[in-house]
Amino acid sequence: MEKLKYERPLITKINAGVPDKFGMKTRVKSMSGIDGLEIQDLVTKFGSPFFVLSEKKINQTYNEAYQAFSNRYPKVQFAWSYKTNYLNAVCQIYHSLGSWAEVVSGFEYHKAISNGVPGSMIIFNGPDKSEEDLAEAVKNDSFIHIDHFDELYSLIQVTKSLKKTAKVAIRVNMDTGIYPQWDRFGFNYENGEAWNALNRIMLSESLELVGLHTHIGTYIMSANAYGVAAAKLAALAVQLHRKFNHHIKYIDMGGGFASKNTLKGAYLPGKDTCPSFNDYAETITNALINSEISPEQMPTLILETGRALIDDAGYIVGTVLANKRLANGRRSIVVDVGVNLLFTSFWYDHEIYPIKETSQQTEDATVYGPLCMNIDVIREAIQFPLMQKGDHFVIPRVGAYNMSQWLQFITLRPNVILIDNQQNVHLIRKKETNEVFQTVENTPDYLLKK
Ligand SMILES: *Cc1c(COP(=O)(O)O)cnc(C)c1O
Repeated sequence: MEKLKYERPLITKINAGVPDKFGMKTRVKSMSGIDGLEIQDLVTKFGSPFFVLSEKKINQTYNEAYQAFSNRYPKVQFAWSYKTNYLNAVCQIYHSLGSWAEVVSGFEYHKAISNGVPGSMIIFNGPDKSEEDLAEAVKNDSFIHIDHFDELYSLIQVTKSLKKTAKVAIRVNMDTGIYPQWDRFGFNYENGEAWNALNRIMLSESLELVGLHTHIGTYIMSANAYGVAAAKLAALAVQLHRKFNHHIKYIDMGGGFASKNTLKGAYLPGKDTCPSFNDYAETITNALINSEISPEQMPTLILETGRALIDDAGYIVGTVLANKRLANGRRSIVVDVGVNLLFTSFWYDHEIYPIKETSQQTEDATVYGPLCMNIDVIREAIQFPLMQKGDHFVIPRVGAYNMSQWLQFITLRPNVILIDNQQNVHLIRKKETNEVFQTVENTPDYLLKK
């Protein structure tokens, strides 16, 4: 028989709050599997740490979002936001579900092309498009969403020299009641800049105005803000029709829907407070349907949802490296998952679950990553049971941004696996090795040891 783990006795103050049927205690549940597979077996196979993506969850969430919109509006098109997670396997899942690609750089544009996405199903956003990028997008018939006047003028130049027309939209920023306002991207609605850009496009012979775009922010907890934004874009569409007798083909509402993660400092868990896809769909489609756009000319509704589609489908599995007491007696746990891999721990209070049942005794603790940096904190405060060196845990809801914003800092990026719909496991990104970085570095000869 295995010796029981020693747990140091401690006296803790009872927290005020609403007791559940077990009293005042925080019970930490364990999470032993993902999509029916034992996490312990995955650790044995892939080491620690590693990311897991669930195709089943991706499908479920996508279908939920698609239905919310398509039950309320006749023409709906999703475009996968590459920067939210651009692992090729992930992009291919969204493309196979019917999503176009939404990209914000030449690098992402080429990723979409090499994933086999037809140029005419790529939306090119962002403030940084080189003339070469623009030329390629024009040749491929992609949708170019113009961000600023300098881009507008260079695009006119590019189309003239190619003797081709470009399909364009403008990104519009506006006051939706969300502050701080994201006014650094696109053309402002209230001060007339957006209308000015539209007039210039309409007068240009080589630009075909096909749409209107906005992306009001990210993790937007107010569905209502989207109603305001959609109404303002619809007003621009109506103005275009009045002045130019021109109908746009689509209104693109961008991304920004909140995922179920809990923001730091939030009073209630995100899963209880974030609006549902139905909530967002209701306000957006209300604004479009109730606008003055004529029923025969209703534009396609494009959504570039990133975070809310993938966050729930991602997990990171890790291992406890050490338990230690801080100078003031506070418990701390050092784990092998740092902020270099889990960038979102700067914003979220991520949930952490042991993969095996542990004791019901919990203690307030701080969870540190493995980096030799003071900023490397995964959770500042969590009621957590005793876990020992070598024990494994899993952090759910990490699918958005972590696998694109991760840093190669102090440690290398780990394996990423995909559990497909048939519960087969695929290694979709190999853990990096030192050799990967040797290939891009160059030490001048005189510094080399002879
Ligand atoms: C980042 C981004 C998105 C996706 O945003 P989420 O908050 O992840 O939904 C969509 N459109 C544009 C233009 C973006 O920059």
